[in-house]
Amino acid sequence: MIYKRSSALFAEAEKVIPGGVNSPVRAFKGVGGTPIFVKEAKGAYLYDEDGNRLVDYINSWGPMILGHAFEPVVKAVVEKAKKGTSFGMPTEIETQIAELAVSMVPNIDKIRFVNSGTEACMSAVRLARGYTGKDKIIKFAGCYHGHSDSFLIQAGSGLSTFGVPNSPGVTKGTAQDTLLARYNDLDNVRALIEANKNEIACIIIEPVAGNMGCIPPVEGFLQGLRDLCDAHNILLVFDEVMTGFRLAKGGAQELFNINADIVCFGKVIGGGLPVGAFAARNEIMNYLAPLGPVYQAGTLSGNPLAMAAGLAMLTELNVDAEVFKRLEEKTAYLHLGIAKVLNENKILHTINRTGSMISVHFDGATVIDFDTAAKGNNETFKTFFHGMLNAGVYIAPSAFETWFITDALSYEDLDFTIAAVNAVAKTL
Ligand code: PLP
Repeated sequence: MIYKRSSALFAEAEKVIPGGVNSPVRAFKGVGGTPIFVKEAKGAYLYDEDGNRLVDYINSWGPMILGHAFEPVVKAVVEKAKKGTSFGMPTEIETQIAELAVSMVPNIDKIRFVNSGTEACMSAVRLARGYTGKDKIIKFAGCYHGHSDSFLIQAGSGLSTFGVPNSPGVTKGTAQDTLLARYNDLDNVRALIEANKNEIACIIIEPVAGNMGCIPPVEGFLQGLRDLCDAHNILLVFDEVMTGFRLAKGGAQELFNINADIVCFGKVIGGGLPVGAFAARNEIMNYLAPLGPVYQAGTLSGNPLAMAAGLAMLTELNVDAEVFKRLEEKTAYLHLGIAKVLNENKILHTINRTGSMISVHFDGATVIDFDTAAKGNNETFKTFFHGMLNAGVYIAPSAFETWFITDALSYEDLDFTIAAVNAVAKTL
């Protein structure tokens, strides 16, 4: 493949945009080389500025669950745009998408729309703090909840100590209110709660982790968190920015039959436009301004174009009774196919999968938390990534990302991908 124009465009971008990108992982720092510049996309494929066609397994990091340029979404946005792009006043479509979301997701009465997953998680935590009157939160190592200060925390000297910021600019004060726990380790969470009695407002978690590769919760883990939260007057916040409207109509709450107190959304809910949302039962949501004391706002929140895209997307997911089953079957097919060729080529690996989220770790051990995810062989991943790219398959340029399967992928595309893995495996 030739990436001449992409390289030239990246060189231009670097002059005026830090690192040439508007979100760091796009820069290929983890895998080397220069990023691909996209010209357009349709269905399962990206077309880059050099004319290469790539089968896409990133799908804008999750939103494009029905494929790129999905007709009903495009049509809804185009029609809306003709009538004005932002008003900063209430519009009927906001209620329509809210009603639909509330009807699809279990255990929520009201939903508030924002502009990103980061905003959703940040606001959910503020609401949890305001509602409980407590300051501290527990998050899990390897879970990403956006780039808001409280979430950019990694382990200090030990998992039971206070967090330290892992980005300059996050104050120690903020970091001290974020306690870090090990994913899939209930004892660790229990110990943190004991050591911080009556101080913890919420536990925030990706119910299926997708930001350290895909890591499903082990049996009993989410229920254990629910029980701990109930026992200690702590709110359970499910960050369903990735899993919402992807794992099932009702997301992880429905899939695992566990109720969260606050649920965060992003990605799919916006159909590819900048949307996030957070939702809960009435007694919690009524704590938000203007009804309650917890302030949260946004000039572009509930933007008509974004709502039109989201409504078209959710409508499709709501009426197509088979879509989540189809997504699961396609992902299972890919899983089996990749496992088979990697085994045949004697490549040490672990594949994790839940629904249409899947990741390949280049290590033989079970991957259940950040430490086990970090054991993956990064050098093997880099070679794998570039090999796949040259074969016409675009996976995330980082070993810690999940692949997102879209309904636009045909079985021919999946076979093409498995054949590419087979070819690349011979070079690893
Ligand atoms: N939460 C999760 C689970 C995510 O995966 C992400 C982004 O990848 C976010 C929150 C932040 O969302 P956004 O990038 O829209 O701010």
